[in-house]
Amino acid sequence: DRLDPVTGDLVRRRIDALGPSYRLFYRRPLHIVRGSGTKLYDVDGVEYLDTYNNVPSVGHAHPRVTAAIAEQAAVLSTHTRYLHESIVRYAEDLLSTLPDELGHVVFTCTGSEANDLALRIAKKHTGGTGVIVTRNAYHGVSTEIASISPSLVGVDALPDWVRWVPAPDPRRVDWSGYASLGEWFAAQVQAGIDDLAANGVRFAAFVADSIFASDGVLADPVGFLAPARAVVAAAGGVYLADEVQPGFGRTGDAMWGFERHGTAASPFVPDVMTIGKPMGNGFPVAATVLTPEVVAEFGRDMRYFNTFGGNAVAIAAAQAVLDIVRDEGLQDNARVVGAHLQESLRALQSQHLAISDVRGAGLFVALEFGLESYAAAEDLTLAVVNGLKEHHVLVGTAGIYNDALKIRPPLCFSIEDADRFVTELDAVLTELGQ
Ligand code: PMP
Repeated sequence: DRLDPVTGDLVRRRIDALGPSYRLFYRRPLHIVRGSGTKLYDVDGVEYLDTYNNVPSVGHAHPRVTAAIAEQAAVLSTHTRYLHESIVRYAEDLLSTLPDELGHVVFTCTGSEANDLALRIAKKHTGGTGVIVTRNAYHGVSTEIASISPSLVGVDALPDWVRWVPAPDPRRVDWSGYASLGEWFAAQVQAGIDDLAANGVRFAAFVADSIFASDGVLADPVGFLAPARAVVAAAGGVYLADEVQPGFGRTGDAMWGFERHGTAASPFVPDVMTIGKPMGNGFPVAATVLTPEVVAEFGRDMRYFNTFGGNAVAIAAAQAVLDIVRDEGLQDNARVVGAHLQESLRALQSQHLAISDVRGAGLFVALEFGLESYAAAEDLTLAVVNGLKEHHVLVGTAGIYNDALKIRPPLCFSIEDADRFVTELDAVLTELGQ
């Protein structure tokens, strides 16, 4: 099963030039050269349905984003040290989508930088260093942030200022002694805070992806994060909502993932929010959004300057994305198409008994396989991912045991796209004898 000579040569040159830390998807790698909306095209012109990529959130190569980037690049691309109207206008526009308490935006280029800055600020604000994360969390690549990303470095390699708590997975944890999953989760966070204190480490921050993407996509029951938020506040720590995955309308019912955990009477408000990935539809732009209280000490004693962060072209891309999300009703589309997708996938469960769970919110859906062992479920998941690729559908994997499909397409995903995904999945599972 050899690669054709042209692909084989590119793979070899890539390994020689880029070194050992890069990975390719698929046993037979894809060579994608063009994208449009929810479709990707390979070097031979073959079309693939993209149900994996969340960065091109308003659609691959959206003409409005492309034009905004090109127009601004043709005029000016400088940093944030001169006055420029567009950065202020975008910041005001972004803040208008958030609770009033979140009052300042600091621009970076990546989600990792946004989290790195957020932690520095949280440590300065609290005078502590202790951080709590979930079991399989991923928050980024800087040395500091890799240290709070057990999915990257492994739980055994976490430094002594980090504690992990089990992810709030209602089917896999025993919360029977508690009034709710949320109460159980809050008790885990409290235990982490107590353990830090017992070891002389002052608590600084609780960091959580509001949809727990790398812990397996945990969206329900809505509201389960509220008790943990209260525990963090009572301990004087900073609640950092990592919205890199769920933000910008993906969950359908809200613009931001944390909003799903509050109510009108009792809104959920983090101290810090970090955003990235879909923010520029592929142009590198990310941000840390904070309450003025949290950033006060940091702003008094330190400066923050990020050479490329928030430059005029990055802001043009970000403004175009925010405008498109609203103008094209993409949050609503995520809600409607996501609900249809989940319903159709549940209907498949009666024919394919290996499907053990379908869950998620909006266009962030996980489909889990349950077999005699987690290893067997992982093998099936990888076989389905590769099988779907042969059917020209691209999908990812999720979960601590890699036993689920991660379905997270551009937000312009249509009902027809969803139906095509379900039809092809049905076919692949039948081919695999499942
Ligand atoms: N937080 C979460 C939840 C993420 O998924 C990622 C990226 N996968 C990051 C942070 C880091 O973002 P970046 O790759 O832009 O540094």
